[in-house]
Amino acid sequence: MGRMGVTLAIIGAAATCAIAAHLVAKRVRQRANWSRALAIYHDFRDGCATPLHRLRQVVDAMVVEMHAGLALEGGSKLKMLLSYVDNLPTGEENGLFYALDLGGTNFRVLRVQLAGTEGRILQQEYEEVSIPQALMVGSNEELFDFIVAELASFITREGEGFHPLLGRQRELGFTFSFPVKQTSIDSGNLLKWTKGFAIKETEYARIEPQEVQRSFKCCTSTSWNRRALLCHVVGKDVVEELQAAMGRHKLDMRVTALVNDTVGTLAGGRYWNEDVMVAVILGTGSNACYVERADAIPKWRGVLPKSGSTVINMEWGSFWSSHLPRTPVDDTLDADSLNPGDQGFEKLISGMYLGDIVRRILLKMAEEAALFGNTVPSNLFIPFILRTPDVSAMHADESADLKEVTRVLRVVFKTQASLRVRKIVVDVCDTVAGRAARLVAAGVVGILKKIGRDTVGNIDMARLKNNLAGKGRKTVVAMDGGLYEHYPKFRTYLNDTAVELLGKEAAEQVAVELSKDGSGIGAALLAASHSQYSSD
Ligand code: ADP
Ligand code: MG
Repeated sequence: MGRMGVTLAIIGAAATCAIAAHLVAKRVRQRANWSRALAIYHDFRDGCATPLHRLRQVVDAMVVEMHAGLALEGGSKLKMLLSYVDNLPTGEENGLFYALDLGGTNFRVLRVQLAGTEGRILQQEYEEVSIPQALMVGSNEELFDFIVAELASFITREGEGFHPLLGRQRELGFTFSFPVKQTSIDSGNLLKWTKGFAIKETEYARIEPQEVQRSFKCCTSTSWNRRALLCHVVGKDVVEELQAAMGRHKLDMRVTALVNDTVGTLAGGRYWNEDVMVAVILGTGSNACYVERADAIPKWRGVLPKSGSTVINMEWGSFWSSHLPRTPVDDTLDADSLNPGDQGFEKLISGMYLGDIVRRILLKMAEEAALFGNTVPSNLFIPFILRTPDVSAMHADESADLKEVTRVLRVVFKTQASLRVRKIVVDVCDTVAGRAARLVAAGVVGILKKIGRDTVGNIDMARLKNNLAGKGRKTVVAMDGGLYEHYPKFRTYLNDTAVELLGKEAAEQVAVELSKDGSGIGAALLAASHSQYSSD
């Protein structure tokens, strides 16, 4: 071999070596990244852990906070609001009633023609309208004008079979699923907007000093604008505002009941099933209400209701306990939210947030462990781009090569990933949804414990004397909301955890039932039982 040949051979060998070294380095880097990704995931999973003993602490904390909230105004983060619903539907309601449901991504208008115990619901019609994003952060007046215009047009399309009685105003139940401090069945002041609503108001409203203080306390000094917003929006009588918008639109209609959506769901559920005692909403937001003995409410002022019981709107989204499993991801989600420091329980369990928790942990793995390759897909930075239905779809993917996960990663994040990465994405979904579902179960068991329905044969007979107490054979929890309805694995986790907590025997006396769209019908039913024309 000549000198030239030797040189070429040396260069060739060096190049091979360099390539090999590069490949080895790459492999080493990939391994390190993968271990790092696993470590991040395991950390997160540990932070989300909900072993049974921990859930029991959450159950007990829920009971303690319920007592505190019932004891006095501001006694707990759980507001335990009085609903002024002292009677639930019986089946005897009659006539045409409307309902308007505002509180999520959509609002709904609905009418029912009721025909007493025999005929029940003769007919019903509804329409759903999505709320333009601009109105969700606009002014109260604009929002209510928009809603009333849609309602008015819905009324003009009243079909065959719907009969308002001659000379009577149409009546409406207003389902308003934000925290409202009610002063009667048909009036109440908004305490705060939640779930991404941030309505502005120019006038400093009738707001309780206590509430102002709380709004201030929960915000950091850097969020002055948000804080100002919070303080300006709250405190108005929402029925007055809706009624005023009806006036502006010359709509002859009377709002006879203002109900939280959980209370509507309870009323709707009770119309069909006397054993419904608790209602839970698991949709964009989350909340619960239940039937409480009036004499168990120390903060109650005035005459006790004839029925002896009343419905308490817990506003459980703001439940807080140091036993709740929380991770740094939850802290940053909270800090970046419209209402930092607030709605702590809701941010762990509701449909608005589950997708974003998953996105945040994936982003962390992408940034710190190159989960999706050397560059982080830019869509991963966009808040709320991954929605809870996407999480549910990926979680339900049972194909060997995780086709659905591939699809969601492609469509939402414009990226792709190896099978083992797709598997870890499913694990993240499982962790986030599992924690949420188990916490909801603990919350429900907390309510059952508070009303003595968590153990076998422990039903308080005194409760059975009044109309609100059901028959006492069983305790039914009416559930509504897209998260519960459309996320089968979430539902399974929730039900299984309730059985774990209650024990098999006691769990047999409890049923969790989907009460689809009960809140709309429930509001119409409550409008009927609180009609201005009823003799009571
Ligand atoms: P809202 O709470 O806005 O009144 P819904 O009760 O219909 O309305 O709940 C809608 C919410 O349910 C969505 O914001 C979403 O978080 C959740 N959701 C809807 N579809 C699904 C799904 N397929 N899987 C999981 N969650 C879903
Ligand atoms: Mg809803």
